[in-house]
Amino acid sequence: MQPIIVIGFLNNMKVLIEIAYALYMGFYTTLKNLFRGPFTEEYPEYKRPLPARSRAQIILTSDPDGQERCVACYLCSAVCPVDCISMQAAEADSGRRYAKWFRINFGRCIFCGLCEEACPTSAIQLTPFFENSKRDILKMVYEKADLQVDHCGKDKNYNFYAYAGIVTKSAGKGEHVKEEKPVDVRTNMP
Ligand code: SF4
Ligand code: SF4
Repeated sequence: MQPIIVIGFLNNMKVLIEIAYALYMGFYTTLKNLFRGPFTEEYPEYKRPLPARSRAQIILTSDPDGQERCVACYLCSAVCPVDCISMQAAEADSGRRYAKWFRINFGRCIFCGLCEEACPTSAIQLTPFFENSKRDILKMVYEKADLQVDHCGKDKNYNFYAYAGIVTKSAGKGEHVKEEKPVDVRTNMP
């Protein structure tokens, strides 16, 4: 038999086995659940543990050194498809930017997670806590004091100011993690 025919035959057999396995697993799952009794989760007495990356209540986290992570760059506000984040930027004496006030209207938020994706400092994070609905829609507007937490959330180690290369009173140019000393561009001239 020609080698090419053998390879073709083996490939067809592999596909057939994969199809048979998929059919078996499908029927097995159906049969396994067909005769079992109904199971009701008694919420709110029983709360199903949700994965850490579930998207619900939003928090503003802190750096490992305890300082606020948010640098009020407005990226989360810009990317939010329903326009429910607003803030005002300010600068501390140390040179760090922060949000003077920060507001999220959870009455509009669709928990898409885009703000978390856009955030350069890992400040804004969605959590699995979803029991934040209120009868009064105006109480769904959360201020910075309601959002700010004193822990790092999901991102335990990241510290934006340790890497950013931004000159503050705590670190100058070339003094951040993995940052090289600035180059004098005049030394590059021919
Ligand atoms: S989760 Fe989506 S809708 Fe909610 S604040 Fe973030 S970007 Fe806006
Ligand atoms: S939460 Fe993040 S993206 Fe939003 S303003 Fe603060 S640093 Fe920027």
